[in-house]
Amino acid sequence: MDYSTMSQEALQNNFNGAKKRHNLLVKEKLNLDLSRGKPSPEQLDLSMPLLNICNSTFSSPKGTDYRNYGYLDGVPELREVLAEILSVNKENVMIGGSNSLNLMYDVLSRAYCFGVCGQTPWCKLSEIKFICPVPGYDRHFTLLEQFGIQMISVPLNDNGPDMDLVEELVASDQNIKGMFCVPRFSNPTGIVYSDEVVTRLMNMKTLATDFRIFWDNAYFAHDLYPDAPKLKNVFCEENQNIDRFYMFVSTSKITFASGGISALVCSDKNFASMHKMLSAQTINYDKINQYAHAQFLQSPENLRLHMAKHAEILRPKFEIIISALREAFEGSTVVRWTEPKGGYFITITTLPKVAHRVIELCKKAGLKLTEAGCAHPLHRDDMDSTIRVAPSFAPMEELDLCAKVLVTSLEYATLEELCKK
Ligand code: PLP
Repeated sequence: MDYSTMSQEALQNNFNGAKKRHNLLVKEKLNLDLSRGKPSPEQLDLSMPLLNICNSTFSSPKGTDYRNYGYLDGVPELREVLAEILSVNKENVMIGGSNSLNLMYDVLSRAYCFGVCGQTPWCKLSEIKFICPVPGYDRHFTLLEQFGIQMISVPLNDNGPDMDLVEELVASDQNIKGMFCVPRFSNPTGIVYSDEVVTRLMNMKTLATDFRIFWDNAYFAHDLYPDAPKLKNVFCEENQNIDRFYMFVSTSKITFASGGISALVCSDKNFASMHKMLSAQTINYDKINQYAHAQFLQSPENLRLHMAKHAEILRPKFEIIISALREAFEGSTVVRWTEPKGGYFITITTLPKVAHRVIELCKKAGLKLTEAGCAHPLHRDDMDSTIRVAPSFAPMEELDLCAKVLVTSLEYATLEELCKK
């Protein structure tokens, strides 16, 4: 529906209609949830054979007993499989615990307490800043907030962050020490960084010599469609600033969200520094799980087949939400949304000052959405126009109803705002 050509009277009539439909939905006392990007039980079931491997296999063909201490950097079999999947050298793959957020926390803590590769620890500086493409992942912002790191918001466009602005900032301020990026199927817009953006991130001049990009490749294998865009590999010959990148991955949304494995991929220099610091922190992570994951993931082709099964479950859920948005708002300039080719999220952009109202109206009608402001540092969405939608966890049979509540609330709040004018 195109509200822009409507008279004030027509807007008011449509508003009354949306309000009535919303009231009917409230009376249904629904209990729906599109708030967090969790895999559904059907997706988790896809990896149940992994548990049998854990139960029965814990020593390598070479006879290494993985129930015992050792292998700080992870079992060689998993480092090898992940290296092949990610097109990197196995010597640069360090396996972590069951999730990547924890690895990011550790890497940031080390830079904060001990410094990056022998440079001044960040805690000794009067001010530390990070660039944050916005909208972004709430937990990255929470992490930075906990360390008292100042967040500089930079707009995230359809092909990645606004690089003119990023280049200008990092070249002129030595307190800018890093940047968080979700380069493939970003959380929450689902965009993929273009080759041009990745190349500019590799080549840009930074005033800080210990500047690091936290390359959170959480959705590296999470394609919903075969024609999903690929991401340029930063661990390539062409990259003259390879030390700049810490890449994080995990199998939280491949195997189990609470029983997967994570990995840090970084240059030789970064790896040596991380290894030294990690050796004071632990003797090893869970190698039984690591070895089982190596057996389960096997190869890039096997992973592709496994992820295609995830996509079969996820794709229809995304399509129900997107079809409902298209049906209600195709061609509209007041409600816009992303149509990602992979990942876990859709972002809806409303008129200014409307997002929190939509979320409130959804809640009233029994649909939980992620809280307003979540995709912005310090939860401050000054425009109040971003809504993150996560369709993965809701059961398939509830998706139509979720879409109905969402669209009705969007209509209600948008028309309410337009009628004020
Ligand atoms: N990074 C991004 C961009 C995410 O969206 C998520 C989860 O939603 C995570 C990291 C968390 O990953 P993990 O479970 O490996 O900590």
